[in-house]
Amino acid sequence: MKKLGLNTVCTHVGELKDEQFKGAVSPMYLSSSYEFLDVDVKRYPRYFNTPNQEYLSKKIAALEHTEAAMIFGSGMAAISTMFLAFLQQGDHLVVQNTLYGGTVNFIKEEFPKYGIEYTFTNGYRVEDFENAIQPNTKLIHIETPSNPLMTITDIEAIAKLGKSKDILTSMDNTFASPVNQNPIDFGIDMVMHSATKYFGGHSDICAGAVASNAEHIERIWNVGKNLGGSLSDMTVWMLERSMKTLGLRVKAQTKNAMRLAKWLNKHPKVSKVYYPGLKSHPEYKLAKSQMKGFGAMLSFELTEDLDSYQFQKQLQLIKSSMSLAGIESTVISPHLTSHALLSQEERDAIGISDQLIRFSVGIEDIKDIKRDFNHAIAALT
Ligand SMILES: *Cc1c(COP(=O)(O)O)cnc(C)c1O
Repeated sequence: MKKLGLNTVCTHVGELKDEQFKGAVSPMYLSSSYEFLDVDVKRYPRYFNTPNQEYLSKKIAALEHTEAAMIFGSGMAAISTMFLAFLQQGDHLVVQNTLYGGTVNFIKEEFPKYGIEYTFTNGYRVEDFENAIQPNTKLIHIETPSNPLMTITDIEAIAKLGKSKDILTSMDNTFASPVNQNPIDFGIDMVMHSATKYFGGHSDICAGAVASNAEHIERIWNVGKNLGGSLSDMTVWMLERSMKTLGLRVKAQTKNAMRLAKWLNKHPKVSKVYYPGLKSHPEYKLAKSQMKGFGAMLSFELTEDLDSYQFQKQLQLIKSSMSLAGIESTVISPHLTSHALLSQEERDAIGISDQLIRFSVGIEDIKDIKRDFNHAIAALT
């Protein structure tokens, strides 16, 4: 069969046929109990193999260009299960220092209990990863674009580094989504997602996913069935419905983000914009070489005379929100949320100023987003 286009994959791959009534959409199989005698597959929700789980996994694998995938109850269930499948007592993980906060917490709080060692890199360049490798390193984990400053890590270089030293590589592809980036094509071994974000896309689902070759997925499955982080089939079904529009949504959001980034970059009340699609971004060329689109996440700094908290209070259309990647535009202050537990000095050291605001760009008409932004600025000046 010819390679299907993105939107065709989103719409059709992994559909469950309704043989009985010929309905147009996948039936929802809520059974938690399946025939046990004389069946090829022993199905059970926590075995990640109910019909809805099995079939939606095919869509995710197709989107990430892998043989197989697994769906989890959250992004953290996906990442924790993946880590624990490939790291055991005495092993060492090299992990990017700019990383989703929940992943950082998992590593710092749980790894010592398992006797797993880890090193956070000093930066996101290949040398930073190379320098952190130990004789017992078993996995290198990266995130690009990273939160909240949208740094770009060289995916291919990291994959090569891993291969040259017989170390597996994994990547959190939540921010770009497979619409804008396919790490497997650059040699990364395993890709994970918080499906709570773009896969779900409507801020009403909490889920996760891992995609890789069949061998790695089998290893993750063996740990996953013990940890029990599977997703309910009702939510799996909702996730399938959401993913049919993944390509449409993320492309519209990416287009809006590009336009907004350029506009903010010239705005007199914005002192800095962090978006990999701007030529002024330090890794613009690298981003262009590994991303199909630059994504719909950006950050900016308001000028010093404006209070970033009051600014967010004045927004009417754009919501302030902890999460991201829904079809609605949302903003967040990293210094009040994800990085609130760090001291002022620690935040300064990693470039998280009080003026910094992260913007998850939605599908609204760009003129309305700009108008809301300017309205909030006007209310403060
Ligand atoms: C949200 C998020 C996660 C964690 O996902 P949950 O679904 O909240 O468990 C992991 N990585 C990134 C980049 C995220 O944005």
